[in-house]
Amino acid sequence: MDLKQLTTSLTTTREEIHKVREYFRTQDNSIYVKPEFMISPFQERIRQFANNFIKTYQKIEEQYPDKHHELLFHMQHVSLLGGMYMTLQAFLPPIQLLGTEEQYQKWRKLALEGRVIGAYAQTEIGHGSDVQSLQTTATYHKETKSFILHTPSTKAVKFWPGALGVQSSHCVCQAQTYVDGKHCGLQTFVVPLRDPKTYKLFEGVDSGDIGPKLSYSWNDNGYLKFTNYHVSLDSLLMKFITVDETGTVTKSGDKTTVKIGYGGMLGLRVGLSNYFLTDGLRAMAMAYRNTSKVGPLLPIKKREFLSDFAFLYSNLLTVDWLTRMFKIYTETVTKDIKAALRLLDELHNLACGIKAYYSWRVVDLIRRHSQSQTVGNLMFCGVVVCYGDTVPAVTYEGDNAVMLQQLAKTLCKYMRFVEMEEFQKIPDSFKFMEEFRHLLDKPDEIKIPIENSKELLDVQKIDELIGAITIFAIKDCYEKMKEKVMSGESMNVMWNEKLQGSMVEMAMIVTRGITFKMTRRILQAQDMKAKMKVKDFGILGDLLLIYGLDILRQDLKIACLFKIGAAPEKLGGLIDEAQEVACKKVEEFTEYIAEGHHYFEQDLYYVRDYNERALSDNGADRIKESIGVGETILPKL
Ligand SMILES: Cc1cc2nc3c(=O)[nH]c(=O)nc-3n(C[C@H](O)[C@H](O)[C@H](O)COP(=O)(O)OP(=O)(O)OC[C@H]3O[C@@H](n4cnc5c(N)ncnc54)[C@H](O)[C@@H]3O)c2cc1C
Repeated sequence: MDLKQLTTSLTTTREEIHKVREYFRTQDNSIYVKPEFMISPFQERIRQFANNFIKTYQKIEEQYPDKHHELLFHMQHVSLLGGMYMTLQAFLPPIQLLGTEEQYQKWRKLALEGRVIGAYAQTEIGHGSDVQSLQTTATYHKETKSFILHTPSTKAVKFWPGALGVQSSHCVCQAQTYVDGKHCGLQTFVVPLRDPKTYKLFEGVDSGDIGPKLSYSWNDNGYLKFTNYHVSLDSLLMKFITVDETGTVTKSGDKTTVKIGYGGMLGLRVGLSNYFLTDGLRAMAMAYRNTSKVGPLLPIKKREFLSDFAFLYSNLLTVDWLTRMFKIYTETVTKDIKAALRLLDELHNLACGIKAYYSWRVVDLIRRHSQSQTVGNLMFCGVVVCYGDTVPAVTYEGDNAVMLQQLAKTLCKYMRFVEMEEFQKIPDSFKFMEEFRHLLDKPDEIKIPIENSKELLDVQKIDELIGAITIFAIKDCYEKMKEKVMSGESMNVMWNEKLQGSMVEMAMIVTRGITFKMTRRILQAQDMKAKMKVKDFGILGDLLLIYGLDILRQDLKIACLFKIGAAPEKLGGLIDEAQEVACKKVEEFTEYIAEGHHYFEQDLYYVRDYNERALSDNGADRIKESIGVGETILPKL
């Protein structure tokens, strides 16, 4: 099987980017940081990434002058690019969504020419998930035709934005906006921070790095405080609101259009989900290389590898789907605002669940794999970096619990639509609620009965079982909510105290189910089949089966509670038997895990470099024995 081809089919990475990467792998590996990087001074790390950016930028320009700008957007796959990653993935998208075409083209050009490095400055010390409460102000000053940005309290200091501390020349920044004493809502501005010639902060701007963190040692997450800082009128992004020199405010669209701005964050959330999964793959590739060379893997370990691998590969497809949905959304914004808002709603709910589910699962996956090998504790072995880079994902881009609560609220709303038979109000991705609602009328019967484990080797059957589990999980939470409302509980107390646990659990169950259903749908699509080799396609089908059985195992409690599949005392055993058989079907696949997915040669470089040191050391043999690594596993770079 050609894993490289498979990975390319599964992701949106461009063929040209693979070629550029290949060049750096074979001709100039200076962009792959050495282990010393981990302990090198902050300035050197920033310098290394600036260098990486310049080199890869030049290479792409030289090789693909016609597609240069287009390809730059995919550049983060070439290596870590520090500030440029934030510029392309977090600074430009909100400008595209909230700015006029003229504004977007201006900043896009500057960014792609490398003349602007931009951060996304939303979070304040006292305000994270609760975006509406941000306190930074922007007040229009007619005399100077400018906005005055101000930070009114310590709680309002921007804190955490990536690349803000040292690298950024500009940022996009959200502020409560006032014109003629009237509040015009939370608006977004493009703000110059540093003089492009001296790179000194402008007067009225105080910013810097927030200090060492658990991970992201390459990123200068920063703080930002304004003191009556004037920015030009056209700093305001004006697709949906305009303010002219006289202070006349014109808003286009209704109140809901403000939501379009959330789309900026959404793009990053979707992109990051891809990043978590590939982090999981690189960690597994390294762990597998190290673990398997000690001796044959124990069956239980093999099962663990396979089930994690099935999760990662199945979900790469889902993220690809979301990426396409996001692209459609950005195209629709300029054509049909109502359609865009509907799509945004659907995408937001999917991304809330998926970001939380992937980040928690990948953190757990990497932790397990790093603990199963002593070398996994070593900073110079890239697994630690993968772990450190994934842990904060549980918080950033919206705290996981908050994200899942939001999804759960929406699902309860949809359950109400189901009760009232208003199915047209339920978006496509959640239509399974209509499909499986009839099961709710049979509380005492066994739903989707299965007689033997063979039936569980059919993805259609698994799909139905998962559908039944999800509909009962939603209904259960919805009933609890109704009960609380009847007893006069306030919404706030209900969401945040009484039902938070149930809501988070329910949203996780539903998200797992949706990812299975989506992956299955994608595999059924004709263009997917056409794109792949028959054998690869078959293996993906087998991995999906393993993934589905894993979900059933995780949701066994709820299946038993609502009599789904079989009697409670029987169901667990049937799933076990089916898992045994399904894993045998793709046993050969474990060999491919060792190949990683061909993205992150950099990590393999860590391992090689580490091994070379270990072997040149006097205690080489002892080290070799105790950690089970050595020449034989060295990847050929
Ligand atoms: C590595 C990293 C990079 C980042 N990069 C950026 C960036 O580039 N730009 C940027 O603007 N920000 C960035 N952030 C900030 C990040 O987006 C915020 O940390 C995130 O939005 C969560 O906000 P918070 O930390 O204030 O936590 P909060 O939202 O205040 O949450 C704190 C706790 O309170 C709980 N909680 C919050 N609200 C509720 C509620 N309604 N109900 C029940 N419980 C609740 C949460 O579950 C959590 O346990 C970054 C953060 C990190 C760690």
